[in-house]
Amino acid sequence: MIPGLSGHVFDGVFFSEQGLLNVPVLVHCTAHSNIQNTNIDSLKRTLAAQAKAAGANTIINFKYAQRANFMSMSSVSWDATGDAVFLAVADSAQGGADGSEVFCPKCGGGVSSTAKFCRNCGNQLT
Ligand SMILES: [Zn+2]
Repeated sequence: MIPGLSGHVFDGVFFSEQGLLNVPVLVHCTAHSNIQNTNIDSLKRTLAAQAKAAGANTIINFKYAQRANFMSMSSVSWDATGDAVFLAVADSAQGGADGSEVFCPKCGGGVSSTAKFCRNCGNQLT
């Protein structure tokens, strides 16, 4: 999980409906389905594949919507979108002396959990 972002992991990609400032969007992902009983997981799988193809590990601004087709009451389409970004997730290769890393709520950059200020944007961390 990524501190400061609420969401969930699917297919190895972190999905969040929240956005982040100052994080470059690698690719805007979209998935669409005309199948009425579409499982949202199949749309997320499409988004996750797009994100991973672009080198991203996180999708922010994740949205999905069911849209009725007014031409046919039985026809419903699904759209899912998100912005794929790469966030440095705390792992064994990164982090401070205590081995942990947190994410700046302002810019999303990874900083040591012991840091008082974000090294990327100078935001004060509490
Ligand atoms: Zn920052």
